[in-house]
Amino acid sequence: MNQEQNHSFREKPQPPATPTVARVATEFAADRFFDYAVPPELAGRIRIGQQVRAEFGNRIVEAYVVELPQTAEPAANAPAESDLFGEIPSAAKRRLKPILEIVDDTPFLSRPLLELARWMADYTCSPFEIVLRNILPSVIRRHEVREKELFFVTPKPGDFELTKRQNELLENLRRVDGGWLHLLAKEFSCSPGTLRKLEERGAVKIEKKNLRRNPMANRRILPTRPKPLMAEQETALRQIIELLDTEGKKLPLLLFGVTGSGKTEVYLQAIAHALERGKGAIVLVPEIALTPQTVHRFASRFGTKVAVLHSALGDGERYDEWHRIRTGEASVVVGPRSAVFAPVRDLGLIVVDEEHEPSYKQDETPHYHARDIAVMRAHLEKCAVVLGSATPSMESWNNVNCGKYRLATMAARVENRPMPAVQIVDMRLETARAGHAQIFSESLLDALRLRLERGEQSILFLNRRGYSRSLVCPSCGYTATCEACALAYTYHQADSCLRCHICGDWKPLPERCPECGDPAFKYQGVGTQRVELLLKKCFPQARVLRMDADVTSRKHSHDEILSVFRSGQADILIGTQMIAKGLDFPNVTLVGVLSADTSLQMPDFRAAERTYQLLAQVSGRAGRAELPGEVYIQTYLPDHPAIRAAASDSGFAAFADRELAERRQGNYPPFSHLVCLTFKGTAEDAVRIAAEKFAEAMRGEKTAFPKLRVSAACPAPLAKAKGFFRYQLLLFAPAAGQAVRPLREVCRNFALPTGVTMSIDVDAVNIC
Ligand code: ADP
Ligand code: ZN
Repeated sequence: MNQEQNHSFREKPQPPATPTVARVATEFAADRFFDYAVPPELAGRIRIGQQVRAEFGNRIVEAYVVELPQTAEPAANAPAESDLFGEIPSAAKRRLKPILEIVDDTPFLSRPLLELARWMADYTCSPFEIVLRNILPSVIRRHEVREKELFFVTPKPGDFELTKRQNELLENLRRVDGGWLHLLAKEFSCSPGTLRKLEERGAVKIEKKNLRRNPMANRRILPTRPKPLMAEQETALRQIIELLDTEGKKLPLLLFGVTGSGKTEVYLQAIAHALERGKGAIVLVPEIALTPQTVHRFASRFGTKVAVLHSALGDGERYDEWHRIRTGEASVVVGPRSAVFAPVRDLGLIVVDEEHEPSYKQDETPHYHARDIAVMRAHLEKCAVVLGSATPSMESWNNVNCGKYRLATMAARVENRPMPAVQIVDMRLETARAGHAQIFSESLLDALRLRLERGEQSILFLNRRGYSRSLVCPSCGYTATCEACALAYTYHQADSCLRCHICGDWKPLPERCPECGDPAFKYQGVGTQRVELLLKKCFPQARVLRMDADVTSRKHSHDEILSVFRSGQADILIGTQMIAKGLDFPNVTLVGVLSADTSLQMPDFRAAERTYQLLAQVSGRAGRAELPGEVYIQTYLPDHPAIRAAASDSGFAAFADRELAERRQGNYPPFSHLVCLTFKGTAEDAVRIAAEKFAEAMRGEKTAFPKLRVSAACPAPLAKAKGFFRYQLLLFAPAAGQAVRPLREVCRNFALPTGVTMSIDVDAVNIC
């Protein structure tokens, strides 16, 4: 979004003093607004952002007031001719249906949030109502949980005159020690009425409780106090406070701090300042880092002012947290991506921790990026925004270079703890020595042995394979690359070929490496299970833990594994990306990366960036406390800039300069905007033809939009999933609008064949 951050908003005319017309969005209509009459008795109460009820078709539906215009549109109550952001045709009076009821006197959507929604629908090319559904949780929109339903049932001791069925129910209630009426009814598959009958018999007490369901209940939290800051922390904090206190335009601040530099402490003290000024804050963390440990760091500083929003919340908890936030009872919100929409009052600060994390991008419509939304929301709310990372994204780094973001750097770890020593292990030499490809190098085995002897812990990191990858020769490191596009070919297993995803060029999979002739070119990766087996063979006495998607699909086992490891009940932890981030293990002194190349093999222009990020984050896990750490990175590409940079304390800036120069050369983001269109359907031919025709239509727009680049329509790297064939089309343009506008144009006139769907991902991050 970088190039369009300063998206200017049309000055909205002030709503009339006594509104007679309300323009609303419903949850059903495809991307259109409708006009309704405001009856005189509601005119004094109606506000923009409110949920109202009105007749739509022949149903009564919930709708949201998006504008209070002076006059109605001519085609009111029927699809408007223009789309959302088009010109409004001159008004002609006609009879409007009335608004029937105002649901929320305090609007569910604040003005800035509504503006944000409109911008987001426009920018992500998504229907407004779907954006709305992302901003307001469904429990709020649908009133599924209302406070009047919050009755608490307490079973009483003694004998009562009950039927057999009622007696059973009472016994069950005693066993679970009572609970919320609506939940008990679900749990014991009975109606609330049945429970009320028990009350009539005197067997239970039912009372209204306005006790908030608090996701942090039952956790003992000891308060912590602000730590005296290190010099660099102090400077960073001062920059944030300056932003908090500025009245006018505030630039986003990128907090570039190495792992262990104490970024969280800076956030905590910045939030404390915001609170002192009567303002609230939102802290976004990647879903995977939203652990009890993380939440604890905030709760122990700000107590009940903290609200946590995460995907595992029950409807009731979500409902309560949302209202606690809206009423201002909670003013510090911690959560993943979607928490960027939290209805915080008087928002003063948004923090996006680990801003480079791909999980901030939603992988369904609307494909929004929470970091970009945070920046836009901060702009609309006139509040400060801090993006923190040890490995900033190229987008953000480029924004610093262009003067759109300010920069604060923390290059030292707290208490001047040393950075871990990083060794690069050249696996080509290991292959040559052993005569075949190795999983563990001699030096890594030696380092592991030493840790076992000293009673210290190790982490072994195995990069999980994505859907798409290219091929790297295990002997010479050769990567098959499309010369014309300077992008690695994608290996397509289905038809055993290498394909360029930009120009569509393809060739059959070579039998041996074109560079050195090694037949092992068709390199196959290893899984965590195999690593575990091998490790147990090498070190039968070692206690090994494994963490990957297979193991952690069971709820809580992620936390359980980590706490077992933290408590020292295991010597070695093997894992995938999951263990790369945010975890703090004082006794870990060795981190081994088994194959740094897996992520370099992604045929993605971000492959080098991702690899650098992963390696730097993984290395950050070693030597966090008093014990110094060591990192071994095994690779077939020891000279690759991403790997060399990760092996150096101050490698980032040089890596970023070089990487950005290459991106500029190839016209890749952040120097262009990338829109990824994915076509899906069960009939492959239909999907392919639709994608090709769409590509053709997009090329037709090039006269009006000469800077638009349109790729060939190709099978997606993930060519088939869940029975659906997937085809992909990439658009590149210097500004997002220059891709989105022609795209809207084509969409308007293009009829997808039945059975084929298309999704639009503006500023795509994962191209799969
Ligand atoms: P980062 O997020 O930058 O990797 P953290 O915020 O996790 O770093 O800080 C690393 C550790 O240092 C934490 O245990 C934290 O409590 C501690 N720490 C942070 N700031 C200070 C400080 N000023 N003095 C002492 N310890 C600190
Ligand atoms: Zn190509």
